[in-house]
Amino acid sequence: MSIGSKLIELKNELPLAVKLVAVSKFKPVDAILEAYEAGQRAFGESRPQELVTKASSLPKDIEWHFIGHLQTNKINSILPFVSLIQSVDSEHLLDAIERCAGLQQRTVDCLLEIHIAREESKQGLSFDEARLIMSQREKYKHIRIKGVMGMATQTDDWNQVRMEFKSLKSFAESVCDDRFDTISMGMSDDFQIAVEEGTTIVRIGTYIFGNRV
Ligand SMILES: *Cc1c(COP(=O)(O)O)cnc(C)c1O
Repeated sequence: MSIGSKLIELKNELPLAVKLVAVSKFKPVDAILEAYEAGQRAFGESRPQELVTKASSLPKDIEWHFIGHLQTNKINSILPFVSLIQSVDSEHLLDAIERCAGLQQRTVDCLLEIHIAREESKQGLSFDEARLIMSQREKYKHIRIKGVMGMATQTDDWNQVRMEFKSLKSFAESVCDDRFDTISMGMSDDFQIAVEEGTTIVRIGTYIFGNRV
């Protein structure tokens, strides 16, 4: 099936209120253009250089989301192109984004990446660390902390996945802040559960573009 028809199928399946970010990491610009021509405008990348290269050569109305681990020395390069940094996994990184955004005189939207999976390997803040950051959010003048991002355990125990998504959703609801309303959870294998559990963004790669090699 073509990228375009995959997208149409997905659009039909997702509620209108759920935003689809097409994860194009490791995929060539041709594949992104095919999705673009089918109407897709939001794309997710996990490596800074790849995001910058693609953003520089592709249409300017594409909205780029950064979803990978971000090193502080790469913030400056992506800031001119990125519309949402979904993967803020430490207070140190948030402080560095604040400094860079201040110097570039812009405001950047971010999500706090929370570790909800059982696996040790996955990165992210604990709920307590995220709560602490939110209690000091006044110090971030150039960042809008819009919500949370999380990745569930890779398992076919769907109850486990559902529990993890529920925990992220209830954390988001427990934060008293009007603009903290974004929840990014759900990938190719588990987006249906994420939608049932009230996500507002799904990040889908393989389902649209096929396996990454
Ligand atoms: C790669 C990636 C995705 C997309 O995963 P698929 O299984 O290909 O849909 C989503 N979120 C993050 C953070 C990723 O790194």
